[in-house]
Amino acid sequence: MQVKPNIAAMRGYVPGEQPQSGTCIKLNTNENPYPCSPKVKAAIGRVCQTGLQKYPEPTAKDFRLRAAELLSSECPNITPDWILCGNGSDDLLTIITRAFVDAGDTVRFPLPSYVLYDTLAEIQGAVCDRVAFNADWTLPLEFSSDREGLKLAFLANPNSPSGTILPPVEVLRIATALPCPLVVDEAYVDFADESCLSLPSQNENVIVTRTMSKSYSLAGLRFGYAIAQPQVIEQLAKVKDSYNCDAISIAGATAAIDDRAWFDEMRSTILATRKRMLAALRELGFECVDSQANFVWCNHPEKPPGELYEQLKAAGILVRYMKYPDWGEGIRITAGTDEQVDSLLNQLESILG
Ligand SMILES: *Cc1c(COP(=O)(O)O)cnc(C)c1O
Repeated sequence: MQVKPNIAAMRGYVPGEQPQSGTCIKLNTNENPYPCSPKVKAAIGRVCQTGLQKYPEPTAKDFRLRAAELLSSECPNITPDWILCGNGSDDLLTIITRAFVDAGDTVRFPLPSYVLYDTLAEIQGAVCDRVAFNADWTLPLEFSSDREGLKLAFLANPNSPSGTILPPVEVLRIATALPCPLVVDEAYVDFADESCLSLPSQNENVIVTRTMSKSYSLAGLRFGYAIAQPQVIEQLAKVKDSYNCDAISIAGATAAIDDRAWFDEMRSTILATRKRMLAALRELGFECVDSQANFVWCNHPEKPPGELYEQLKAAGILVRYMKYPDWGEGIRITAGTDEQVDSLLNQLESILG
């Protein structure tokens, strides 16, 4: 058996641990700790009742209609043909990479950032151009520079694992300077103060991606969407699987974006927990980065993050230990429920005390 050399050489993306027992406190993959809107369950129930024997509407039209209505209150240009739906936003990142990147091309993204960008580039046999963030979490001019073979750039904004954000004016400047499309991955934007939603209408090269996994508590459903100018969406749609979103996820995601009351309440709860967690971690001596997402990136001056991760794990608390070659390491902690965060803080106090 001989797979392509670039596939044989790659390690493959390793997602955060997903223990199925349910006894541990899971603060490692930025899931929302609260159950989704009850309207999602009702909508899924209706789909199951009418039967699943037919293929779904291939473009998730119901979702796009409703999403366009909602998004156009923030950005008036957006109509359903500006939206492409996917089986999670990872599916959209895959579609975009397949559409723009060939073997030998270059894909640029910041360091440290979402590790899936490395994997997607490697699958295409492309070269990764990782540009390190400055110490203050801005990006050097090098990020927007031209380079031969550069075909695509990714920017998670807010970024993971740092939780930091670049303002939309800066992202637009980067997009304008770059010779290739820029994907603005807004997986965490619902926890931030601003978004880049208006950029695709100002620059054809900007593709914004979003997910229902984090802020809508639907990581298990698998639904995300991309926003770009219609002629861009038209090209990307050729690359997707014909039925990349199933009937259950389309119904669930549509019901979820419709329940604004659930969303507003969940959002303010998570933001309050994040604020409290950040202050308490600093109180314990952690160096933390101010976060615009539902997690906090931190390091303790006296305790290596790998050890902290192991000791927390032994106590039944999972956080994400990240080590980036040629950059550094740290731990990323998801803002869970208040109870979960209290357990974490108690455990950290006894580990450090
Ligand atoms: C979680 C995450 C995603 C993927 O979300 P799915 O919609 O669940 O595939 C994309 N980008 C970043 C930066 C993420 O953290």
